[in-house]
Amino acid sequence: MNGIIASIFIMIHSNKNNMNNLGNEMYDLIIKLFPICRSITGEGVRETLKIIEEYIPIKITEVPTGTKILDWNVPKEWNIRDAYIKDDSGKKIVDFKKSNLHVLNYSAPIHKKIGLNELKEHLYTLPDYPDWTPYLTSYYSENWGFCMPHNLYEQLHEGEYEVLIDSTLEDGHLTYGELFIKGESEDEVLLSTYLCHPSLCNDNLSGISLLTFLAAILLKEDLRYSYRFLFIPETVGSITWLSLNEEKVSRIKHGLVATCVGDRGSLTYKKSRAGHAEIDRVVEYVLKESGTPYKVVDFFPSGSDERQFCSPGFNLHVGSLMRTMYGHFPEYHTSADNIDFVSPLHLGDSLKKYLEVIYILENNQFYLNLSPKGEPQLGRRGLYSQIGAKKEGDTHEITALLWVLNLSDGANSLLDIAIRSGLRFKQIKHAADILHNKNLLKKIS
Ligand code: ZN
Repeated sequence: MNGIIASIFIMIHSNKNNMNNLGNEMYDLIIKLFPICRSITGEGVRETLKIIEEYIPIKITEVPTGTKILDWNVPKEWNIRDAYIKDDSGKKIVDFKKSNLHVLNYSAPIHKKIGLNELKEHLYTLPDYPDWTPYLTSYYSENWGFCMPHNLYEQLHEGEYEVLIDSTLEDGHLTYGELFIKGESEDEVLLSTYLCHPSLCNDNLSGISLLTFLAAILLKEDLRYSYRFLFIPETVGSITWLSLNEEKVSRIKHGLVATCVGDRGSLTYKKSRAGHAEIDRVVEYVLKESGTPYKVVDFFPSGSDERQFCSPGFNLHVGSLMRTMYGHFPEYHTSADNIDFVSPLHLGDSLKKYLEVIYILENNQFYLNLSPKGEPQLGRRGLYSQIGAKKEGDTHEITALLWVLNLSDGANSLLDIAIRSGLRFKQIKHAADILHNKNLLKKIS
């Protein structure tokens, strides 16, 4: 086969073991990243980026606290070393070292003894899921607090409690990672994920792992598009990147936010704000062709970083390809979104879908039929003898040739032809390659 990223085509269509092995490696990276206490700033982000750097050559940027970023400012940097609640017998009833979810993320430092009533004002639980610890944050209003299972909360008795949060909230930096892979074209595909959640797997370690492995694959390819990978804190990170890189934004033609890609649910695509962009059509086509259940939802202005990329001043063609959408599984933002909640098989399947999307984006070109008056004589060019027409597959190949010749008038991309003909994109692409080699087609974009 000729054409761009042929090896990706082989990887996703010919060797199932490849994807299973990659799923296992993606899972191993999640296990490595799981214990780190991440937030929107701080050492947890740096430690995470250092691990990603072992896989792909990201560039790390540090933006000082107070820097003006669009309508926002880079916040103070948060770091934490320890936190606990001790009861009056000195026993630790909540211990940050056992789970970083126990601390309200971005808690200000505190060390004092308090009574039960005051303590309860700073405790957060999930009465509906009494064994789980919720994940909560207080980034933009200074507060402190602990999160714990409701069952434990109900056992608290009157008395004096020692609370310690050994954290710092001071001037520092916001840190993010970026990888740019130069392709033939200056036009870019943006692939973004966030790295600000502590020990949570589907939301968000699965997205980090998927983009790390996707980047490692694309680094080995000759690409048509240039690819920009972002590993950023959610919301404030995308606002920072957009603010510092406004001159690059117009080069972004397509994009996806990767999140919640490791659970056992079926795939969900959240469309870009435009709703009918090429990325929207390509992802929908890949999901439809997969033959497995999927959902497509229209853009809405809450969610992840697509909110910023699709804000009206940028209006980028960025959607989000997920499995079960954030907020739609009970484990979301709780201690139950752990390493058992994600599976290597589903991580590998999500990566395969991303590769299929990229394969089509890379190859979705427009051609012009150079012999448009009547059908060109295929037999004279060896195309009938080459493809036979004896087997059913051969008939499909002839049909594909005829569709490509007929619709290659400059107004239809290969994806348009695949959709209209009902043939698979790979058959249409194969037919276009053959006709191009026989000088019957000219690439026009
Ligand atoms: Zn989240």
